Amino acid sequence: MIAPFNRDGEWLRCQLHSHTTNSDGEATADGLIEHYVRAGFDVLAITDHWHITTAAHDELVLLPSSELSAKLEGRGDFDADVLAYGIDVLPEPREEFPSIAAAAEWIVAQGGVAYLAHPYWSGLRAEDYLAAPALSGIEVMNAGSELLQGNGLSAVHWDDILHLGGACLGIATDDSHYPGQDSRLAWTVVAAPERSREAVLEALRNGDFYATTGAAILGIDVGGGGVEVRCGPARSITVRSGPWDGCRVDAGPYAMNWRGRVLDRRHDGAITRARFEPPEYWRWGRVEVVSVEGATAWSNPFAVD
Ligand SMILES: [Zn+2]
Repeated sequence: MIAPFNRDGEWLRCQLHSHTTNSDGEATADGLIEHYVRAGFDVLAITDHWHITTAAHDELVLLPSSELSAKLEGRGDFDADVLAYGIDVLPEPREEFPSIAAAAEWIVAQGGVAYLAHPYWSGLRAEDYLAAPALSGIEVMNAGSELLQGNGLSAVHWDDILHLGGACLGIATDDSHYPGQDSRLAWTVVAAPERSREAVLEALRNGDFYATTGAAILGIDVGGGGVEVRCGPARSITVRSGPWDGCRVDAGPYAMNWRGRVLDRRHDGAITRARFEPPEYWRWGRVEVVSVEGATAWSNPFAVD
């Protein structure tokens, strides 16, 4: 079994993008924290724009965080947003970074972890990510963008980056500004040896997590020329790779499966385990599970050999 599914320890439900009245959000910090605690979250990053909202709570691990902006060279007035996790201070002066690379380098120099927010919504391209090697990954799903504008899913950007050789992890977030209306839609499930700020940051650096809108990935095995996936009751399981390259099994009774076969099903036909056999030339894969309810889970990319 590949990491993080082979680990003992805790699985923590993390909300990694949210706003309060300290920037453009509707809830106070205390109100937002209570909202996510009641919803069963273990970890919250309050990512107010250019503001570190500090708070403490007995049950919730709070990651000191902010959403910082950077100029996009040659794109008029457009800019990019970079999520900064685990920073205790803001840049001085508090003005937009000249580039995504400069923002990500500054965050990492503070001991933090940098993720590129909503690439689709920001009009970004794979090249924008690849020019900033200090980034750990992207938001593959930003539920707020998806809910309001239909541009929250950046899976194509992700595949482009990976195909061009970039190292890129994928988180899912709410980007909630109006908790209750645009919250509890997407989150990141982190495998951590303990419930602490440091353990969660380390998992975000290393890719010990999967992203989800409600579907569950339980295990991924890579070996013997194949990829085996265990998951919560699924409508389909896909192994993505570069252009032309994918494998899928589907629960539909007449569906054609491609480079994969179902190993276990629930009584109603939902898939819970499948094995895939990608062609030998594949270098990497990533798993997407669509649950019977229509939610999606995204694994991080892994080596296939
Ligand atoms: Zn935001």
